[in-house]
Amino acid sequence: MDYRGLRTTIWGLGHFGGGLAAARWLAHRGARVTVTDQAGPDVLANSLARLADVPIAAYHLGGHRAEDFSEADLIVVNPAVPPTSPWLRTARSGRARLVTELELFLENCRAPIVGVTGSNGKSTTAAMTASILEAAGGRVFLGGNLGGSLLERLPEIGPNDWVVLEISSFQLWHFSPTVRMPHIAVVTSCTPNHLDWHPNLDDYRAAKQRMLLEQTPKDFAILNPFDAETAGWTSIVRGEWVAVPELDRLPTLQVPGLHNRINAACAAGAARAAVCSPADIRHGLERFRGLPQRLQWFATVDGRRFFNDSTATTPESTLAALRSLDGPVWLIAGGKNKGFCFGSLADEIVARARGAALFGSVRYELLQLLHDRAPEFSAVAVETMAEATRWCWTHSSPHETIVLSPACASTDQFRNFQQRGEQFERLVGDGLLDR
Ligand code: ADP
Repeated sequence: MDYRGLRTTIWGLGHFGGGLAAARWLAHRGARVTVTDQAGPDVLANSLARLADVPIAAYHLGGHRAEDFSEADLIVVNPAVPPTSPWLRTARSGRARLVTELELFLENCRAPIVGVTGSNGKSTTAAMTASILEAAGGRVFLGGNLGGSLLERLPEIGPNDWVVLEISSFQLWHFSPTVRMPHIAVVTSCTPNHLDWHPNLDDYRAAKQRMLLEQTPKDFAILNPFDAETAGWTSIVRGEWVAVPELDRLPTLQVPGLHNRINAACAAGAARAAVCSPADIRHGLERFRGLPQRLQWFATVDGRRFFNDSTATTPESTLAALRSLDGPVWLIAGGKNKGFCFGSLADEIVARARGAALFGSVRYELLQLLHDRAPEFSAVAVETMAEATRWCWTHSSPHETIVLSPACASTDQFRNFQQRGEQFERLVGDGLLDR
């Protein structure tokens, strides 16, 4: 596609690199790029610095202008823009094509693509799939939500390579009706999530289902058969449905828990669709060592094992942590409620954990649920993660486990889950836990 002279609006520069990559890529292809963001230049300083060498025609920051939507030929919308944004109507009623950075990638990529979506396990399953494709001798590019934008790498990516993309529900929601969906689509699960962004559960489910509904008959679909929702989605598959292997036929993994065996089965299903051999599937899974901040052991201090599971931003992921860790566990959980119901998680916490320290804006809601179930259960609500960590440290004994597995979004107190997890590891490493 020829982008020269195209009046292009980057809507939402943001901090995660997608807007940045789209701005660079389009400007270097001769588009006339305007960057607009609700946030002002101070907040965006990092992203703006990285555009310093790029010929951007105009910056409209600290708010939007109607003409940037009505007069544009192409609008690249940041997937974080919510369905309630009043500017969506303006953008849609103009003549512009409305796409996301990921959609630009999909329509320009020459390699076959594996897309992984789901409520939990996306990154892990995507990385496991990449590990198998590499074991099969392929050159693999891992991107999307995990690994960042691959737009700039398009020239290196050829038809014999593989691309594995983690795709969020926000991305799927914003895709245009003409998007080219991934050749191999994997859905790891569908449980309520992001209900502070999607208007309701049906809208969230519909976003996830788009990846299947808009494939062609030449494509492949892999569904997690152990998830109550996705197990029933075979009837909406438009490509060829590929079964995942039995769990007991998978090799021993380096990552813990039943949930990771299910992720591995989904990755193996994707690899089957990519015609990998059973031996490659086994090797790729065996050598997969896990991703940072996903139920990751990082220190043992005075006999207590510390795990960082800061990516656990849903009740299901914290359930997976509690079910996977051996021995007595002290749980550090909390943050911002994204619209979850924590009842089942509370049942599991009182049944499985030794104690729980709750922090962030959700802390009293969680504490109440625990008290309702077991008044004698050892739990506390404190404001910060640091206090919660100290409380678990003081109450725990040698040979016990302390895990940060928040079950909530981090954004009430942190920039993102990475920052939350890094702070947790620093707290433990810096000896702030001294009694
Ligand atoms: P996502 O990309 O969907 O957020 P990740 O693979 O990054 O998923 O894992 C995020 C969190 O979810 C971690 O706490 C991890 O242990 C947990 N998790 C991973 N796979 C599953 C699964 N299949 N079911 C429930 N929780 C999972």
